[in-house]
Amino acid sequence: MKQEAAPAHESIIALMQEAHHGETPSDVIRRKAKEVINKHRHLWKGPPFCPFALADLEGVIVEPAPCDIRSDGRIFPKGKDVYIQYNADQSKERINFTICHELAHTLFPDCYKRERRRTPAEKAEWEFENLCNIAASEFLFPEEEFSFEIGSSPLGANQIANIAARFGASIDATARRVVHLSRLPACVIFAVYNEPKGKAVTSLSVQYAVAHPEFAHSIHPNLRINSKSVANRAYAQQLPIGSSLENWYIRGKWARLRVEAIPLPKFESKETAHLAILVY
Ligand SMILES: [Zn+2]
Repeated sequence: MKQEAAPAHESIIALMQEAHHGETPSDVIRRKAKEVINKHRHLWKGPPFCPFALADLEGVIVEPAPCDIRSDGRIFPKGKDVYIQYNADQSKERINFTICHELAHTLFPDCYKRERRRTPAEKAEWEFENLCNIAASEFLFPEEEFSFEIGSSPLGANQIANIAARFGASIDATARRVVHLSRLPACVIFAVYNEPKGKAVTSLSVQYAVAHPEFAHSIHPNLRINSKSVANRAYAQQLPIGSSLENWYIRGKWARLRVEAIPLPKFESKETAHLAILVY
């Protein structure tokens, strides 16, 4: 059974006014994102699915920010028009996601009404922005084409890197989408490299992980990645390497996992992780 905390953010409350019976906030935002895609299906094709074209079809003007906006992007009405401005100082893959994210703000019924004087609680704001990321993922990787792309076979590190390139998307966004849509219960781990201290040989650790609901193990932050894991080689060589069957020690138990590791290009991941590791 799905469980989500009660929405506390005013935009999420407004969104839930449009919920169908039994829908959670993420169900509603996914449905609304898909409705936008279906509306433009005949004109908007891919991969890659150009976010600039989608914004244009939605009547939103997109331009690089003229100054430092202290964020990846922003959306605002001016006169009769709606503008998205993006920080041009990002990789083109991140710019694509940023535009999709900003466009996702328009799915909230109070997008242009919300008074911004009151700063919502941090957790509520995180939930709201996370819903925008969910919709952004629907825009950048429309389900039909993405599912066709990943097929039903196990996914290799090189395949994921290739799919990311085909969709004009970052590795991290692509790996998350894979976990969401793959038939295999998988988990994507974002790992960081730390210089080994003293006699320590393990230098990669988990920053955070995004798991399929049916993934059997609980990968926790700070979990140290075995020094024999293929992930170390992928990081050292800066190449996607995978198809390695490994034993990982997780929460006091051994788990047998297939491991696919893909280095993240510098600045591509907002979370500053060094490696995406898909395990299943
Ligand atoms: Zn946002």
